[in-house]
Amino acid sequence: MKVEDVVCPFCGCLCDDLIVEVEGNEIKSVENACKLGAHRFLAIKKNRIKKPLIKENGKFKEVSYEKAIDKAVEILTNAKKPLLYGFSSTSCEVHEVAIELAEVLGAVIDNTASVCHGPSILAIQEVGYPSVTLGEVKNRADLVIYWGCNPMHAHPRHMSRYSIFPRGMFRDKGKIDRELIVVDVRKTETAELADWFIKVKPGYDYEIFNALRTILNKGDINRSEVGGIPKEDLKKLVEKMKGCKFGILFFGVGLTMSGAKHRNIFEGIKLVRDLNNYTKFSIMAMRGHYNVTGFNEVLTWETGYPFAVDFTRGYPWFNPGETDANSLLQAKDVDAALIIASDPAAHFPMESVKYLAKIPLIVIDPFESLTTKIADVVIPSKVVGVEEEGSAYRMDGVPLRLKKVIDAEEYLSDLEIMERILERVKEKILKR
Ligand code: SF4
Repeated sequence: MKVEDVVCPFCGCLCDDLIVEVEGNEIKSVENACKLGAHRFLAIKKNRIKKPLIKENGKFKEVSYEKAIDKAVEILTNAKKPLLYGFSSTSCEVHEVAIELAEVLGAVIDNTASVCHGPSILAIQEVGYPSVTLGEVKNRADLVIYWGCNPMHAHPRHMSRYSIFPRGMFRDKGKIDRELIVVDVRKTETAELADWFIKVKPGYDYEIFNALRTILNKGDINRSEVGGIPKEDLKKLVEKMKGCKFGILFFGVGLTMSGAKHRNIFEGIKLVRDLNNYTKFSIMAMRGHYNVTGFNEVLTWETGYPFAVDFTRGYPWFNPGETDANSLLQAKDVDAALIIASDPAAHFPMESVKYLAKIPLIVIDPFESLTTKIADVVIPSKVVGVEEEGSAYRMDGVPLRLKKVIDAEEYLSDLEIMERILERVKEKILKR
């Protein structure tokens, strides 16, 4: 049987054109996906956690779901300030339950945005987000800039589906109708494909955006180069941006995690806003995980804030730098953690991981990871988008419905696990 229009639960492209061939309850092949997406489906059985686990005397012991959930509830209700973190590789329905759990517990809730595009969100809160959907890019863009990102590696079908190669309504010759500029600190595989690669010095993006805005607004930068770009090239770049019919600036962690961080994005957005005095120009964050955007959406509807929300005061408090996962772990300001659909032990700084390993830690995940190794309770779950359906938001804010293509009856879903935890936490707290 072939299941069509399957949505890929891997990166922020959220490709919705996959064809998955299923025989019995086995995935046999995946059409249209890139290597990363195909691996998500074809390697579904690898590195799975088989049973719920509880660590006793330094060793994991297999237990029932009931016991593991009881232990998780005990840890969370005994904590004064628990941290709930992860969420970018699970559905919006799970996010909703987790936010209620955070509120009931008086916990802090945060997702992977705080280590990727959190700075973009901070900039957007200050200066807005002149953005579009990827469909508009496909149909209209004649100038595409990738700045500080490498989609060939991180979002492999981004260029072929949305930005460079597809034939669009007003760009019917595809790539021939578009110009690709890549701005980066090194010549990446994406840069190899560019019509113009602009190599910049690491950490100078803020100055470069500032110089471009100055030139665009008819000022003089009084310098022969900025951030490694000669003045003549800065002028040429401004002319190209001004002269296009529909431009788009995609940016990645090369901007959010270097130099001036959220100020880079702030200045980039202001440049795009200024360009709209001359032409139509937009900007878009290359969101990483397939549903990192979804968590920010749901948390914003529920609390008014997109990530790093602290409920310890009894109402939502948002102050990244104080309330995000890494700041809390490094300040030793949480006393237990529940991690779901994320692997912070592999991606957080060592100081944070060391503290995470010291506090009672619950991990909900289908797969073994570095974080499951340091956990006290490990609860295996179904893979959303393969074994369980749910909602997710693409990098441009377009919601899509993830499908279930095979059964995994031996596991509970993230949603079932979180609902059971919430129910028991509520019972326990009400008894107090
Ligand atoms: S580009 Fe991303 S969403 Fe599309 S198939 Fe590859 S991993 Fe999946």
